[in-house]
Amino acid sequence: MKFQAYFKGVPAMVLAGLLGSALPVHAKAPIEVVASFSILADMVKSVGADQVNVVSLVPADGNSHEVELTPQDVKKMSSPDTKLLFVNGLGLDSWTDRLLASSGFKGKVIVASDGVKVRKLGEASVDDEHEHDDHGHEGHEHPEQENEQEHEHEHDHGEFDPHAWQDLANGQVYVRNIAQALTQADPENAALYAGNAQDYIKQMQALDEQVRKSMSEIPVERRKIVTTHEAFGYFADAYGLEVIAPLGISTSAEPSAKDISAIIRQIKEQQIPAVFLENVKSNKLQDQISKETGAKVGGILYSDALSKTGEADSYLGMMRSNVRVITEALK
Ligand SMILES: [Zn+2]
Repeated sequence: MKFQAYFKGVPAMVLAGLLGSALPVHAKAPIEVVASFSILADMVKSVGADQVNVVSLVPADGNSHEVELTPQDVKKMSSPDTKLLFVNGLGLDSWTDRLLASSGFKGKVIVASDGVKVRKLGEASVDDEHEHDDHGHEGHEHPEQENEQEHEHEHDHGEFDPHAWQDLANGQVYVRNIAQALTQADPENAALYAGNAQDYIKQMQALDEQVRKSMSEIPVERRKIVTTHEAFGYFADAYGLEVIAPLGISTSAEPSAKDISAIIRQIKEQQIPAVFLENVKSNKLQDQISKETGAKVGGILYSDALSKTGEADSYLGMMRSNVRVITEALK
């Protein structure tokens, strides 16, 4: 009523013009979200573009299996503005449970790996002091959301391989989950997120083909590498590579002298051509292995984190860089 009274007598054309110029073109602020590690943060940014502000808890070149949370992290998570927390799941970032408890986070937790074909670990690579069979994991779609404690206990033993992003087919699953979550949190920008996700998935599909082509050019008997920790299982399964990793699935355990000599024996026996370093780990062990086996040091692979600068500062760039380094060393 007041509105009408105020504009009474103002010609309709003029009124429309006034209102039109007063309406901002796009007033909505970006939504605030958090991702557990840098690779996931980059995927979220690729889908959300300037409509999403994303903070990564583990920074580039950081160890995504562990975290040193800062008061700012907790503050960010406590803020009612923070709508989503993206985690990898599969035990990589179960440290977020602590953060969720201490921050009283009110938003939604999105498990980006939901729906990927999970790589289970063979008995040999699992530090298996406990019997897990009775838990009957197989076929669970949301292991993280059930009986947290019991599963966390199992994840610590690395029953699943969490490094699913190393297969570009899984990267596409992550992107679909991210787009869906952003759309639910911010339906106004649904079309933007759908379009970005579609473009991004197309790029992943094209890169996936390139990776297959590059890997197929390496002689089969030379498709064997040594990495620091077991982060390339999905890559190996998808693109045809054999990987030996002295540190196992997480980065916390140190190998014993016995483990190392077994690995050195295996590298010699199988004539593995190259040893690779990782951006997230100390590489002393790799130097030792290289010296004792004669396998050359093939360069740096990006496993669990992006680089701060350079080609590997994005998920696609990281995959490109890894494939180039591997093919150059093995060809
Ligand atoms: Zn890892």
